[in-house]
Amino acid sequence: MMYDEQNIFARILRGEIPSEKLFEDDHVLAFMDIMPQVDGHCLVIPKKPSVGLLDADPTVFLPLFTAVQKLGNAVTTAFNADGVTIMQFNGSAAGQTVFHLHVHVMPRKVGVPVKPHSGKMEDIEIIKKNAALIRAALA
Ligand code: AMP
Repeated sequence: MMYDEQNIFARILRGEIPSEKLFEDDHVLAFMDIMPQVDGHCLVIPKKPSVGLLDADPTVFLPLFTAVQKLGNAVTTAFNADGVTIMQFNGSAAGQTVFHLHVHVMPRKVGVPVKPHSGKMEDIEIIKKNAALIRAALA
């Protein structure tokens, strides 16, 4: 599959559509998932384009997973999480819906189930409130 420059995360990276950003550097951007499967569900993407993990330049993995680790610790603090689910899909058969490499970071609480994947758009005020909690934990 060819990389499509018009995919939604490429458009977020170019600033063409809004996102609730958590942090960014030269290599990665972290932002809130707009259809969270748990409170505090967020995403990390490399700035360098690839459809998924399998076609990525391996040099993105160190900054990408360094950011995933940083965000995993921040959501743990922000949501007093008991665990963190890290997810990453390659290809629509595997559940991928946005074709720019991304890693899901989801704080988990014992007994709280994960909602369906790409299910329901969250109230933007709740997204903003959860983003503020994560930013405070990152500070
Ligand atoms: P995947 O199925 O792994 O490709 O996941 C794509 C994720 O991107 C889903 O969890 C969606 O809720 C999320 N998503 C789609 N559009 C946006 C957007 N504009 N801003 C933030 N997250 C999005």
